[in-house]
Amino acid sequence: MRLDKFLAETGVGSRKEAKQLLKKNLVTVNDEIVKDGKTQIDEKQDIIKFAGEELTYQKYYYYLLHKPQGVISATEDKWDQTVIDLLKDEDYREDIFPVGRLDKDTEGLLLLTNDGQLAHQLLSPKKHVDKEYFAIIQGIVTEEDIRYFAAGFALTDKEQVKPSELIIESVDETNEQSEIRLTIQEGKFHQVKRMFEAVDKKVVYLKRLRMGSLWLDEELILGEYRTLTEEELEKLK
Ligand code: URA
Repeated sequence: MRLDKFLAETGVGSRKEAKQLLKKNLVTVNDEIVKDGKTQIDEKQDIIKFAGEELTYQKYYYYLLHKPQGVISATEDKWDQTVIDLLKDEDYREDIFPVGRLDKDTEGLLLLTNDGQLAHQLLSPKKHVDKEYFAIIQGIVTEEDIRYFAAGFALTDKEQVKPSELIIESVDETNEQSEIRLTIQEGKFHQVKRMFEAVDKKVVYLKRLRMGSLWLDEELILGEYRTLTEEELEKLK
């Protein structure tokens, strides 16, 4: 890899800034000052230092975010704050994106990464990666709803939802509200909300708990994120 690319990717600065820093004799490769950004380096073998500090190369970044309501699952938005805006300056990279979408008013687990291959693997309809949600429903969820969801059904003339697992956690008869968990295999637009509309009920609160093997870390407060552990990443891949 070119040295200027390496410097940019390790967060030292843009390629242009890296050029200036190289001119100032601030970069060494195996303890030799190198001034030319075009120099080819081996990021796995060579020891690259900037101002005496060794730089370690990381190609992919993985952040587990506890998405709050009011934030858009996109990289840019004209009006609203996005999940990418929640990254601290030192963690921000322009190639990081959210893996899939949660609605603006949905909370919970969202993976942010620049690993396109993993994102594809998690989102591809062919892979059937489970997504588990907790929801508060306006209405009394019944055993009949459980059976209906378990069989899979037509959301519209053209859209079929695959079998899903619905678990009733509690029912508040007085206020006609139910707390449920739902595990679906797909990620259709507004899928959970539309599935409950199909049985004449309304989702009033929605939180994603899990995607494949990756669980929301409940220690993260809303809007907080952390890097995935090696174990989480290995299981997910
Ligand atoms: N289903 C929905 O309806 N909304 C979400 O944000 C996620 C799943």
